Amino acid sequence: TKTVGVIGAGIGGLALSIRLANQGFKVTIFEKNSYPGGKLSELNINGFRFDKGPSLFTMPALIDELTNLQGSSHKFEYQKLKVITNYFYADGTQLKASANLEEFATEVHLKLDENKQTVLKHIKRNAFYFKTTEDLFLRQSLHQLKNFINLKTAKGVLFSPFLGLWSTMHKKNEKTFSNPKTVQLFNRFATYNGSNPYKAPALMNMISHLEFNLGAYLPKKGMHQITTHLVKLAEEANVEIKYNSAVETLNIESNNRIASIKSNGVSYPFDIVASDIDIHALYNYLLPKSFIPKKLLQQEKSSSAYVFYWGINKEFSVLGLHNILFSDDYKKEFDYLFSKQFPTEDPTIYINITSKYCKEDAPEGCENWFVMVNVPHNKSESIHYAAAIRKNVVDKINTMLKTDIEKYIINESTLSPIDIENQTSSFGGSLYGNSSNNKFAAFLRHANFSSSIKNLFLVGGSVHPGGGIPLCLFSAKIASQLIVEQEMK
Ligand code: FAD
Repeated sequence: TKTVGVIGAGIGGLALSIRLANQGFKVTIFEKNSYPGGKLSELNINGFRFDKGPSLFTMPALIDELTNLQGSSHKFEYQKLKVITNYFYADGTQLKASANLEEFATEVHLKLDENKQTVLKHIKRNAFYFKTTEDLFLRQSLHQLKNFINLKTAKGVLFSPFLGLWSTMHKKNEKTFSNPKTVQLFNRFATYNGSNPYKAPALMNMISHLEFNLGAYLPKKGMHQITTHLVKLAEEANVEIKYNSAVETLNIESNNRIASIKSNGVSYPFDIVASDIDIHALYNYLLPKSFIPKKLLQQEKSSSAYVFYWGINKEFSVLGLHNILFSDDYKKEFDYLFSKQFPTEDPTIYINITSKYCKEDAPEGCENWFVMVNVPHNKSESIHYAAAIRKNVVDKINTMLKTDIEKYIINESTLSPIDIENQTSSFGGSLYGNSSNNKFAAFLRHANFSSSIKNLFLVGGSVHPGGGIPLCLFSAKIASQLIVEQEMK
């Protein structure tokens, strides 16, 4: 039996381990934290439960696929949302994004005076973007020549002139819609992978396809259930997870293979090693400097986040599970995020309240607010701007929701870019690895294998095909196929 050592029990590492264990490999995961899930973990304070990181869940079939792979009896229950997001604009306009496309288009027509057919056509075009490119960009390695000479890929290449590579998301949306508020609504999807809609290619509009056409979901017990379910599957498949076990070095043999993983001072030999950690942490701390892929590490990173976890002792009927309080000047917000690298004083605020669905997440009459603003990745400056962000967030919530929110906050915890970096090793606390702010971004992510170290493979948000739960799960699928292919040679 071949042995595999996996570094990191994030979503990508867990999914890869499940797949490989089901192919007959003996898998051991080394996790530096005392808990699994990396960015997808949870926080419990005084009767309030919070999902610490991800809150939007799309493509649940990718989790079902893992459950079915081993015919597990562990159930992963989730529901499809009927209302996806409540949008609040600075001028007081409110819009409910229904999962029913007809209802959504009608709402956009009524509230933003947009042509209904234009909205529906836009969503259809985004489905075309996705379907035309998913085989090329998501479901296979982008770094193997053979993958460019099959029929499915040819489709993507053939249609490339029609895929909005030469325009930006914003330009395309501005050309499509008459109301800047509709443009803002669709531009927001760039933030789903930490990018800038004024720079990201129009092709990235396809992100909205996942939500509008495939649906938005919530696991029965909140997002953290994704992690607990994957851990159950991994354990059922005899994957060993070693917690409190940071990998310290990877020992390289003279023939450019990793011989062993060193953790807590002990060397563990493995046939294959897979990394689920940020490529910066992998190359800068675990491998000899001669292996550093300089160009790949220099790519622009996705944005980070500043999160407040608030226990609120009041219920707000105007809010739902996902709520957006838009900034007045979106362009300025992104200029600050990516060019000035400082958060604007009028940020878009995202409020996620799982207790709207999962009653046990907050005490009776209370709500668990996850309040997030996008901030630049890295930057130790987050220490300096934390107080300013909090004040701006409180003021904006008070104005837009006509409340005095400080009165109702009975618990508070925060997460800054520095915390994200310390807890998960992601470079500067970036949420999704590289940004997608240029049309070549897809080609400038690290491959799911190392071209210089023969038995090293890579998964997770900093490698192909990118960050976010679905893409991390795709990375695990691609890497497991590569490993199986190599071992069959
Ligand atoms: P990570 O979660 O990065 O985990 C890596 C693991 O490796 C960690 O457990 C870490 O402790 C461990 N590790 C690091 N170094 C070592 C070492 N030397 N030895 C051993 N272990 C090590 N995605 C969505 O799809 N929807 C969302 O709504 C969404 N919102 C987000 C909001 C926030 C605030 C954050 C932080 C992220 C969000 N994301 C969202 C992104 C999503 O969480 C990530 O893309 C995904 O969880 C990353 O998984 P990963 O496999 O890359 O591993």
